[in-house]
Amino acid sequence: MSHVVARCPLCNQKSSVPDGAAFQCHNDTCAEDAERIRNPREVITREQMMRDCAVVYYVAFGNRIRIGTTTDLAGRMKALPYDEFVAFEFGGYHLARQRRAQFSGARITVTWLERSDQELKTWIRQLRAAMEYPNDATRSATRAVKRRLLGLEVR
Ligand SMILES: [Zn+2]
Repeated sequence: MSHVVARCPLCNQKSSVPDGAAFQCHNDTCAEDAERIRNPREVITREQMMRDCAVVYYVAFGNRIRIGTTTDLAGRMKALPYDEFVAFEFGGYHLARQRRAQFSGARITVTWLERSDQELKTWIRQLRAAMEYPNDATRSATRAVKRRLLGLEVR
């Protein structure tokens, strides 16, 4: 008996079937493959992920506030000297630079600002009020980054 090779209309894999017989898919993972075709998982590049999950952080050290940015918050927090992680917002290098310019009146160095600056204090209060746990920036940031990595964050 001759066979013909046809593509499964569901999984798109080739199967050999007897000529004249009804098509039968021989792909063991037909259902899974068909599902992947129906709902292609979004492929996220490392660059996209870094951009989406970059965080602008505000840490206090003595009478200073540092505004910086990182795509590895946990790692950065281990490496930085600070007394308190006070606030965060999603954003990368450009946002961090924009914030430093915004509070240039409080500037001590490029990244360190005067903690007592009123405008900066007001801004940090606003950021904290918007956090999931207004009194725990570390926990709020960790959870926000995780949600975003898992694609649960609405942007
Ligand atoms: Zn199939």
